[in-house]
Amino acid sequence: MSWQATILTLFPEMFPGPLGLSLAGRALGGGVWSCQTHDLRQHGLGRHRAVDDTPFGGGAGMVIRADVVDAAVSAIQAPEGAPRVFLTPRGRPLRQQDVSRYAQGPGVVLLCGRFEGVDERVLEARGIEQVSIGDYVLSGGETAALVLLDACVRLLPGVMGSDESGVEESFSDGLLEYPHYTRPASWDGRDVPEVLLSGNHAAIAAWRQKQAEEITRERRPDLWSAWLDRRERNEAAAGRSGQSGRTGV
Ligand code: SAH
Repeated sequence: MSWQATILTLFPEMFPGPLGLSLAGRALGGGVWSCQTHDLRQHGLGRHRAVDDTPFGGGAGMVIRADVVDAAVSAIQAPEGAPRVFLTPRGRPLRQQDVSRYAQGPGVVLLCGRFEGVDERVLEARGIEQVSIGDYVLSGGETAALVLLDACVRLLPGVMGSDESGVEESFSDGLLEYPHYTRPASWDGRDVPEVLLSGNHAAIAAWRQKQAEEITRERRPDLWSAWLDRRERNEAAAGRSGQSGRTGV
């Protein structure tokens, strides 16, 4: 059974878009995942198939109607247990741990907003999670959906060349990844860090760990303090189990 992406959108032709190429495209062709779009316009009202209306309370822009979204959600066939996700800057930030949870399930149903967004009631009533891909505002949810899907699809079994490349990378252990270098060893007057040419695997691992820590501390104080907290807790736990081990002897 393949992993199934179901996308509710006013622009179905945007999919699979860039995910039809490269690794994701090959996996799509090979049936590892499937990408089904469902046009919200089908459920629009009246001669013009209107999907939106003006906001109660006034203000700029238009809001996608709850009844239109509900009709679309009822019309699709998504696998049992697939989370429903509305992409919105008001959502909880998407993290690698969410991506890996989605990738381990049967698939996802993604609702792409346009205009000012979607009537809040249908999100509540139909158990639709709200997820943001970052602190900036896009013109529509489609590019955000492509980001979420790209992150999920590369984790599906058999999509990436080596399973290792998914384990040892940014965020997987709470740190950003160390820097990479390849040939030539000397370029534009810059030499590759010597330790990487040493063949000393322990020294290389230690250097990479230190780099990952320094870069995270500098660039992402939020990740760094979470990582320090976790390390402290782990050390405390190890200390406790060490003590009980000694008293047990
Ligand atoms: N008025 C909204 C922004 C609407 S942008 C607000 O201020 O919160 C139009 C649509 O683009 C949204 O409904 C959403 O589906 C999508 N979108 C914009 N920015 C996004 C982000 N950072 N993450 C996920 N989706 C986003």
